[in-house]
Amino acid sequence: MELLTKKVKGAEDILPCDSYKWQFVEDIMRKEAECFGFKEIRTPVFEHTVLFNRSVGETTDVVQKEMYTFDTKGGESITLRPEGTAGAARAYLEHALYNNGLPVKVYYQLTCYRYEKAQAGRQREFHQFGMETYGASDPKADAEMICAVNGIFNRLGVDNIRLEINSIGCKSCRQDYTNALKLYFEEHKDKLCPTCLSRLDRNPMRILDCKNEACHEIAKAAPTVLEYICSDCSQKFNKVKTFLNAADLEYTVNPTIVRGLDYYTNTVFEFVTDCIGAQSTVCGGGRYDGLIEELGGQPTPSLGFAMGIERLLMVMDAQGIEIPKPKTCDVYIAALGEDAEATAFRLVKELREASFNAEFDIVGRGLRAQMKYADKIGAKFSIVIGDDDLSANKAVVKHMKIRDEQYEVPLDERFLDEFIKIYMDIYQKTISTSLNFNEN
Ligand code: ATP
Ligand code: MG
Repeated sequence: MELLTKKVKGAEDILPCDSYKWQFVEDIMRKEAECFGFKEIRTPVFEHTVLFNRSVGETTDVVQKEMYTFDTKGGESITLRPEGTAGAARAYLEHALYNNGLPVKVYYQLTCYRYEKAQAGRQREFHQFGMETYGASDPKADAEMICAVNGIFNRLGVDNIRLEINSIGCKSCRQDYTNALKLYFEEHKDKLCPTCLSRLDRNPMRILDCKNEACHEIAKAAPTVLEYICSDCSQKFNKVKTFLNAADLEYTVNPTIVRGLDYYTNTVFEFVTDCIGAQSTVCGGGRYDGLIEELGGQPTPSLGFAMGIERLLMVMDAQGIEIPKPKTCDVYIAALGEDAEATAFRLVKELREASFNAEFDIVGRGLRAQMKYADKIGAKFSIVIGDDDLSANKAVVKHMKIRDEQYEVPLDERFLDEFIKIYMDIYQKTISTSLNFNEN
């Protein structure tokens, strides 16, 4: 029986008392993306496994250790998306979005799945918000992408978050670097974990982001990629910095950032904070000029980022950022007796059609209990309807916090207009006093 009421490890519920926080940040992110001309894309939660093997990379931690991969009843290998870039790139190609002209700019909000050790800021199902630009080679695009992330943090009021950037060069300068890494790690072969040992020949750069303590220690003294990038890549990196300066964005160059996914080239960046413990990277991204070609498309310089929403909310919580509470009930109609209940039902319907948040009793409570409930849910107004009110064709309206004043509304077709007048009247009064009309 226990399994019926226990969620799967590493997955979290977002409860009604918290969902407004998610809606708030999602809204802000959507608005920011749209200011930059990005449109939303929604892709399936699963894809053919080969898509991730090919794009994220066979020797990455994500593919080697973290994917939820299974065979369907039809014998296909399917994987729950561990990230959003691969699916978006697949959709870009499948639907020939490039036919609408370049650049193509998309954003997404989605759940991701990685079989990792669950801990604070690290879940097996988690949420990412991300943006991708296809068909833009200019370093201005890199700076624009970074600005968009920064804009989100600004709008949310998040501060004390560091922007760290690096360049990991192009395919050809990466070759020299890979050789240098090979030589370095060969010398420390005996201390590497078995996965990294197998990466030594195939992709030594992946050893740099291995989470194993011993590998991590050795990686600290490894040659850094910036020493090896070609002059073209170096120039591009300088341009990115120039545009970041022009936008007044502070950054530090961190030559150890290589990102854990194989598709990155040139600019990579992370937004890092000290206020949420060990899982300190809130957002990671960069350029991936080879990905679209790798998936069978024309060479298409592209770039993107993904932000972890759980970590973002942890930062906001740690920084004491208040998220506006959702609107509560505008008006609760309490009723006693069958006829009054039917009238209440009709009026609630009218109010809701006019976009008021209106409620009435649906559990069979007595009048006192209904009023108590109205208080509990933070109703701004109450209307009480009994038999006498029905015969008089009017009922009393009260503001739940200004109880000494009361108003009357007719219960016939004039009801809505009259109620709106009272509502606006009290609204006017309360904005000029310390009593906040919208206070819960
Ligand atoms: P980390 O080094 O922390 O494992 P990563 O490099 O694997 O991160 P990315 O693949 O770049 O992460 O994903 C982008 C963002 O998604 C991360 O910066 C983080 O905020 C979030 N993220 C990644 N994995 C998880 C997870 N398991 N649980 C919660 N958030 C995650
Ligand atoms: Mg990871």
